[in-house]
Formats: sequence, structure tokens, C-alpha cells
Amino acid sequence: MSKSWWLEDLPPLHSARVFSPDIEIIGAGVTGSSCALSLARAGMRVRVHDAREVAGGASGRNGGFALRGGAQAYDKAVEFLGRDVAREYWQLTEEYLERLAALAGDALTRTGSLRIAADDEEREELRAEYEALRADGFHAEWRDKLAPPLAGRFRAAIFHPPDASVQPARAVRRLAEAAAEAGAEFVEHHRVESLDELEAERVVVATDGYPSGLLGELEGLIIPTRGQMLATEPLAERLFAMPHYGRHGFDYWQQLDDGRIVVGGFRDAALDTEFTDVEETTAVIQDALEQFVASLVGRRLEVTQRWAGIFGLVLDFLPVVGRHPDDERIWVAGGYSGHGNVLGFMCGDLVAQALLGGPHPLLPTFDPARLVAA
Ligand SMILES: Cc1cc2nc3c(=O)[nH]c(=O)nc-3n(C[C@H](O)[C@H](O)[C@H](O)COP(=O)(O)OP(=O)(O)OC[C@H]3O[C@@H](n4cnc5c(N)ncnc54)[C@H](O)[C@@H]3O)c2cc1C
Repeated sequence: MSKSWWLEDLPPLHSARVFSPDIEIIGAGVTGSSCALSLARAGMRVRVHDAREVAGGASGRNGGFALRGGAQAYDKAVEFLGRDVAREYWQLTEEYLERLAALAGDALTRTGSLRIAADDEEREELRAEYEALRADGFHAEWRDKLAPPLAGRFRAAIFHPPDASVQPARAVRRLAEAAAEAGAEFVEHHRVESLDELEAERVVVATDGYPSGLLGELEGLIIPTRGQMLATEPLAERLFAMPHYGRHGFDYWQQLDDGRIVVGGFRDAALDTEFTDVEETTAVIQDALEQFVASLVGRRLEVTQRWAGIFGLVLDFLPVVGRHPDDERIWVAGGYSGHGNVLGFMCGDLVAQALLGGPHPLLPTFDPARLVAA
């Protein structure tokens, strides 16, 4: 049971052959597909390679949360980046969430999301983030009273109205289809072992947490981190109307339209073993997930799928986007620290815009060179 719920029944992707590509992209997840779409629509000859199928990596194995913002809390981003940069960063993610919604069609629903506090300490942290968001004009609602089954168990929450629930594999497949329609070639089930086998003068490595073997020193600075999930049998009762996440993002779940619950997290049940690129489920984490769902809904549910995926963790929680510090030929976009559905879509496009000669003013904030210099 290692196939993700999202990857079931995806139709095959058809794309044309591209000769003498201008740009080759490694990784056909949300980042690579977004990048390919922007480049192909601008008239570039693009070839995308993936060792698996489109969205076969984390893009088809995640929690299905499409959230605005970065991987850190907004108030922390303000402290770290300064208010102007943090605000511009958050606004940009909101814009890209809009664009993703337009491209994803019915694979994305604007439900909002609920970020919940498990104890008083987390409540204080959420309150500080809420105040910072409101102070800078972002739409957010404070919830002190929570409905069952959250009431009594969680202290408070921030409702984020712009956020969404996404069927991530389907959304990414739509991006890839649009890129293929614009002329991009997708070569699936082909692992690129060396840059020498590529024809293009410029290469984009969009592999987030999956070690590509192509990035040299930078590779180890985007730390492969395993996330595990499961999907349950469908429930007759409607308990959760939107994606929920708490305990600093360690726990996340949502109920899908057919009633099933998809839940992930609990990495902290075995933190050391989860810093790995081995895409396997483990009994410790899976048991913790099952018990958590049982405690939420009041009974044990049948599990229909269990799976793992790998995401790239970066110590400063900022994406890694731009030219490789040691190799002019290579561009990178990844390192979303578990927050890549919108960030990946955005950063794939930011790389494309830079390659097309119009780098975004925020790009230096995400410069890969900062990791090597640190
Ligand atoms: C369990 C889990 C839950 C998550 N939940 C959320 C969530 O709810 N919301 C959110 O925003 N983010 C979430 N994330 C993070 C998010 O899924 C990722 O950040 C995002 O999907 C990364 O997309 P990507 O396109 O950059 O990389 P991926 O989708 O990981 O794609 C990288 C691809 O590169 C390919 N590849 C690697 N090396 C090579 C090579 N040498 N040659 C060819 N191909 C290669 C791999 O096969 C892979 O398909 C979660 C991640 C996990 C694992």
C-alpha cells in the first residue's frame, strides 16, 4: 500500500518530441511543470525529465493543502526578512494561489484553511502571527470557539480565507498538460544521471527533497525529509470542511468530498528516522496517524492507502531559487520545507521569468548562494 490516494487513476500524459531544446528541466512535479508551462508559452523549446511519472514525487504524495505564505509563520518572516520583504513575499504567494486556482480548475477548491493551536503556548504563537497578518492588511480570522470535534481538544485557531484544498496530482497533471499543449516535451521514467547527457545550454533542477545527484555541494543543504500519510474509508458524517493543521504543522488532515480523511505528519514520533530520502512507511508513524484519526472521529477507521513522500527542508525555511552558485548552466528551484504546493508553482515560474530575462525583485531573497556562504 505505497501508492498515494492522489495518484490513483491518473490518465497518461501525451507530449510531442522537442528537438534541440533551449532548456531542460529535471523533475516533473509542481515546480518543473510550472516552469515548463511558462517557458513553453513564451516560445522556448523545453524538455522535462522525470525518473517517475508527472507528479510521482512529493507533488502527488502530499497533504493537498494549497496555502498562501512561506514555510515559517508570518510574524517570524517579518522578523527575519524585514516587514517590506515579508509582505511582498506573502502577497506574491496570494497572487500565485489565484493563478494556480485558475489553472487547476476543479482540482482545487477555495475552502480556506484552519491553523489550530494544541496548547496555550501554541495559542500565543498563533495570536502573534494573526496580529502581524492583520497589521499588514492580510485577510485572517481569529477563532476562539471551535466546533466539535475540535472543541475542548484545541485552544484556538486562525482561519485563513484565501487557502484551498487541492488534489495535487491532478492539479500538477493539468499544468503539465497545458505545458505539453504549449509545446513542452515530457520524458517520464527517465532518471538523468549526469548533466553530460543533456543537450540544452541551460538546465533547471526542480527536484525539491529528492536527491538528483546533479547539484554538488548544494544537494546536501536541501535536506531530504520524509512525510507519511494515510487515507481512510469514507465517513458518512461531514466533520471537517477544510484543511486543518496544528502542532507547528506536525499534524495535518482534511476530509475529501467522498468523506474519506487524508491525514499526515507525526514526524516527531520518530524524528531522527524521518530525515531520509527512503520513500517507505513505518509502523511507528502509521500507528500514530491511525490513533490520531481514531481519537478525532471517536472510532477506528479502515485505512485504504498508506504512503510516504520526501520534501526538502532548508534551515532558514526560505525556498532555494536561482542560479547555482558554482555552475552557470544550472538553475535551481526547491527547498520549500514542506510547503511546496503554491511555493513550487510560484518558484517554477520565477525561474522561468529569470531565464526569460525578467528576474523578479524578490529573487535575491531566495538566492541558493546564501546556503553555501552560510
Ligand atoms: C507527505 C507530504 C505532505 C506534504 N504536504 C504538503 C501540503 O499539504 N501543502 C504543501 O504546500 N506542501 C506539502 N508538502 C510539500 C510539497 O509536496 C513539495 O514541496 C512539492 O510537491 C515539491 O514539488 P517539486 O515539483 O519541487 O518536487 P517533487 O514533486 O518532489 O518532484 C521532484 C521530482 O524530481 C524527480 N527527480 C529527482 N532526481 C531526478 C533525476 N536525477 N532525474 C530525473 N528525475 C529526478 C523525482 O522523481 C520527482 O518526481 C508535502 C510533502 C510531503 C512529502
